[in-house]
Amino acid sequence: MHIVILGGGLSAISASLFLQDKPNIEKIVILEKEEVPGGLCRTFSTNGIEWDIGPHIIFSKDKEVLSFMNQSLEENNEQHRRSNRIIHDKRFIQYPFENDLSKLSEHDKFVCLNGFLHNPYENYPVANMLQFFLRTFGEGITNMYLRPYNEKIWKFDPAFMDTQMVERIPRPPKEDIIKSAAGETVDGYTHQLYFNYPKTGGTESLIKALVKKLSDKVEIVTSAEVKAVEKRSGKFVITAKETTYEADKVISTIPMDQLVPMYATETPVPEEVKDCAHALHHNSIAICIVNVKKDFAGDNYAFMIADRNVIFHRISKLDFMGKCYHLPDTVTYMAEITYRTDDIYDKMSEEEMEKQVANGLERIGFIESPEDINFIKIKRFDYAYVIYDLMHKQNTSKIIEYLAREGIYVNGRFGSFAYLNMDAIIRQSINLAANF
Ligand SMILES: Cc1cc2nc3c(=O)[nH]c(=O)nc-3n(C[C@H](O)[C@H](O)[C@H](O)COP(=O)(O)OP(=O)(O)OC[C@H]3O[C@@H](n4cnc5c(N)ncnc54)[C@H](O)[C@@H]3O)c2cc1C
Repeated sequence: MHIVILGGGLSAISASLFLQDKPNIEKIVILEKEEVPGGLCRTFSTNGIEWDIGPHIIFSKDKEVLSFMNQSLEENNEQHRRSNRIIHDKRFIQYPFENDLSKLSEHDKFVCLNGFLHNPYENYPVANMLQFFLRTFGEGITNMYLRPYNEKIWKFDPAFMDTQMVERIPRPPKEDIIKSAAGETVDGYTHQLYFNYPKTGGTESLIKALVKKLSDKVEIVTSAEVKAVEKRSGKFVITAKETTYEADKVISTIPMDQLVPMYATETPVPEEVKDCAHALHHNSIAICIVNVKKDFAGDNYAFMIADRNVIFHRISKLDFMGKCYHLPDTVTYMAEITYRTDDIYDKMSEEEMEKQVANGLERIGFIESPEDINFIKIKRFDYAYVIYDLMHKQNTSKIIEYLAREGIYVNGRFGSFAYLNMDAIIRQSINLAANF
């Protein structure tokens, strides 16, 4: 059996790894449009500082996958204790917000505690993300942090997003919130308390380690943007780089909304399926690397910022990841700005965005003036986050059902159009391989 995999990120590489030893598989060709494989797990370098597309950390509840990732990195791996903070009113609040209310001003603490204890929404059924926040946390925590932060990261109103992302978040017990307001900080999300990260080379080191494990059966063709996928008499013909590739089976890890319009078969793709693909939403990300003179972040890694007057929703101190991510006598941050196609941030010049990042750094107290910045650089990436809008489930289900009937397997974050981290991608690849 000949398999062609569309796209060459973690989902394609991990799927190849789990498929390559199957005796019925003769050849796997991965077609990747960029010059190097890795997709969202690529690592870039600016003035000697290596950085990922958003800080990628290795953590998981899935013990088997976690040890697979850690073992793949061999010696190039280090464990860190997570230290994430929310910056509210220039104060550092431990993440998650509701576990550290005593750090708020007296007024804000009262608003959050009171909204939680006397919550008029607590018995309503919920139909969207905003309603979920109000019912679970009350008005204070929702309006002070959850609502503005989620609006910032998703660039989509939480009232138009479904509850897939949040429905597993339990309602905190009243005693915990009272304790948190009284000064007893509770550690939340304990499976994320420790994480791993490559000592050097950023997250792309994981990709490189996995590529090394691929056998001769697997060929990775780079700079090969897939333009068309056709099915003729039961066989697939894929066009990329002005070359055609034949396959018995296709695994698609490229964005689902891009695959559908490029697919052709003897029976035209139903209009309904095309409409579903057209209706899918994603957002993009601008990564801004800023090197500054002084350290105001302390021994912390990532900071979430809900303040609408700060352009970035998260900022991470790259030095936290070890000596290979540190330039002497300076501190390097990564600020993340999400945007939707054609919104104001998409249209914003790099110069203006850099200015706004500098303003944001000043506002949160990470620089005293723009003169504290040694260098600043922005790079943009189109597909970053899947938006779970109210129609997401219905639209993706219809497309996946159709593609499955056509014999096309989908895998990966945008291949299956789901919010999947690296661990979930690897699990998906293991499950996919079990079907062959
Ligand atoms: C900001 C951010 C932070 C994250 N942080 C973490 C984290 O801390 N921990 C964690 O576990 N995960 C994290 N993730 C998730 C992680 O990046 C993804 O789970 C993983 O990289 C997805 O791999 P993939 O192969 O499914 O998708 P991708 O990496 O998107 O791969 C798809 C590939 O297809 C290629 N492609 C697209 N169109 C075509 C075409 N027409 N022809 C050929 N090739 C094409 C793309 O170039 C890309 O290489 C983060 C993601 C983001 C965006």
